[in-house]
Amino acid sequence: MGIDVLMGFMIFIFGLVLGSFYNVVGYRVPNNMSIVFPASHCPNCNHKLRFYELIPVLSFVFLGGKCKKCKKRISFFYPFFELLTGICFLLSYLVFGISIEFFISITFLSTLIIISISDLKYYIIPDEVLIVGTILLLIEMIINCIINDVSFFNGLFMPILSGAGSFAILFLIKILGDAFFKKESLGGGDIKLLFVIGLVIGFDMSLVSIFLASFIALPVSVVQLVKKNDNVVSFGPYLSLAAAIILLTNLNFDKLLLFFTS
Ligand SMILES: [Zn+2]
Repeated sequence: MGIDVLMGFMIFIFGLVLGSFYNVVGYRVPNNMSIVFPASHCPNCNHKLRFYELIPVLSFVFLGGKCKKCKKRISFFYPFFELLTGICFLLSYLVFGISIEFFISITFLSTLIIISISDLKYYIIPDEVLIVGTILLLIEMIINCIINDVSFFNGLFMPILSGAGSFAILFLIKILGDAFFKKESLGGGDIKLLFVIGLVIGFDMSLVSIFLASFIALPVSVVQLVKKNDNVVSFGPYLSLAAAIILLTNLNFDKLLLFFTS
């Protein structure tokens, strides 16, 4: 499998541009706002953004992280998620090449990025995003079955079963957690998200993702608990990060390291 530098660069730029769109989707869908209208504007002064203020990452840097008109600080979230999407797309290309797995990977990672934006901002994992992501993934899995001669049992039925199993396990953890902590321990969105995670990385790895996410979230939760009594912790971004790490590395880091050392 050849890795083409120009191709990699174009895929990275494509990721940056889509990341910019995902910011819009992640911020607007939980508010039941249209993702098309109104055009992007400053949330403080309603200044409508011109094309040169909409260039992913670069506009943020050139504008010094401030609105051109009212000078209000622009959230660091925007360029961060643009860059993250670009990097996720590039890594998908490095790991999977141009293949159906690449498209499954970028669809999955895009879904994770959008729900992470919504979860961090509003503590909501929008159903709409999970549904659209799942439909696209199922279509790609069907295409994979057809073009790569994979049986529908292995290529479609087993992933769906894995998703359902992962969903059921986290649902069980939630019921136990709710009873133990005498309050809502996990949001419904996290449980639905596990369906998508299980669908793509499989049942076993989805269980690993729950443990990995808890492990990554632990220090952050402790700091939050010490700083103030803020009980709301979005778990979606941690699950997403864990699932992304597993998808791209298969928890075998040699493969990824090889790309950077060779
Ligand atoms: Zn402004």
